[in-house]
Amino acid sequence: MCELNFNPEACKKCNGLCCNGESGYIWVSKSDIKLISRFLKLSSEKFIKKYLYKKSYNYSIKEVKNDKNFACIFYDDKNNNCSIYSVRPTQCKTYPYWDEIIKNPLLEASFCPGIIIK
Ligand code: SF4
Repeated sequence: MCELNFNPEACKKCNGLCCNGESGYIWVSKSDIKLISRFLKLSSEKFIKKYLYKKSYNYSIKEVKNDKNFACIFYDDKNNNCSIYSVRPTQCKTYPYWDEIIKNPLLEASFCPGIIIK
């Protein structure tokens, strides 16, 4: 089995490949909602209404459609970074150490330059 390692320095040059691309869910927990809404100086209710949508019992961050892709609404394409980086959701903080990627890191490594397989 391959071992997955990650070099966060690669994020500076990849133009947010994990924040753009195919549409997907960017799950936020209750504690993520508290942190991000405080960071944005919004009440949790206003933050949810403006930036999230409900899928079943969970919330996901809205996406915006550009020419070819979908991008997380918090992705800043002028500066190529996450505009809420210090309080980004746990899902984003823990990338790429997700169970499904750990099981099959080669596929993810084919597009994420930060993933190093040993
Ligand atoms: S919250 Fe930030 S790190 Fe997470 S997908 Fe959106 S732009 Fe990327």
